[in-house]
Amino acid sequence: MNRPHPPPPARIVVVGSVNSDLVVRVPALPRPGETVLGGRFTSAGGGKGANQAVAAARAGGRTTLVARVGNDDLGRAALASFEAEGIDTANITIDPHAPTGVALILVDSRGENAIAVAAGANDRLTPADIDAAAACIASADAVLIQLEIPLETVWRAVEVARAAGRRVILNPAPARPLPADLLGSVDVLTPNETEAAILSGVPVHDAASAGRAAVRLLEAGPAAVVITLGAAGALVADRSRVQQVPAVRVTAIDTVAAGDVFSGCLAVALAEGHDLVSAAAFAAAAAALSVTREGAQASAPTRLEIENVLAAGVSI
Ligand code: ADP
Repeated sequence: MNRPHPPPPARIVVVGSVNSDLVVRVPALPRPGETVLGGRFTSAGGGKGANQAVAAARAGGRTTLVARVGNDDLGRAALASFEAEGIDTANITIDPHAPTGVALILVDSRGENAIAVAAGANDRLTPADIDAAAACIASADAVLIQLEIPLETVWRAVEVARAAGRRVILNPAPARPLPADLLGSVDVLTPNETEAAILSGVPVHDAASAGRAAVRLLEAGPAAVVITLGAAGALVADRSRVQQVPAVRVTAIDTVAAGDVFSGCLAVALAEGHDLVSAAAFAAAAAALSVTREGAQASAPTRLEIENVLAAGVSI
């Protein structure tokens, strides 16, 4: 008997940043000139591009990351971890002139933090790097981009993807104002509340105000907007509807990278052909799982875990 073959995994290309997060726990954040003796030191993979690529790969996407790292131990560790996740690293350039991006993070006993980022090689991801990855981008089912790389590179990635008729998802983080023609060139925009407010000029504090911001953002031209609302889930809007997708109820212990898990998994579900609301529900299930665990990349769930949450339809 002929068994039907399962569909091949959707192809996701993530264009974005790779950082190493170096974290020291301190009793209190130091004042200028002060040295505090810290406690535990941990290091972990970070950067929005890398976080979203790991989330997409674990969620079942055949994932390629287009990025730059330095010719240093942190860069080599990042590459090894991507390979262990099954991420295609052929379009990650090892930059001979800049170190791997680093985020120095201090966290005090109340969970308050202070962060300094040295973008390093991320700042040197150029439009030429995008051109070098053009064939890969042209065969993607979804191209996912954030804003921790130069804006001209973001632009080039959008142009190359659009020229090939590929679906473009822009996670406009970290928050910054963007030209209207860039917003008008993406298929799906995935801001959180802060980013939605900055891009739309509409203050966002709940689903109703997110709805108003989404309508304003749609006027700028993206085909769809998905505003993430933390524990309140997400607001999905396109030309035909504005709909809230509830969060899965969980006990959150660490919300770091929740937005990255959401965008990475939304990209996978959209690339597989799911409609916007079901894709947002898939992403919300994945992001809910991630907030029950510590860490950024470490907290991203597997496909099976996400499907179990969706099948249970209950709190976890
Ligand atoms: P960001 O991390 O970018 O600020 P959000 O805080 O909006 O993004 O979170 C992204 C997504 O993660 C939300 O849309 C939601 O689906 C999920 N999420 C975040 N916090 C919680 C929570 N406390 N409980 C359940 N899901 C959550």
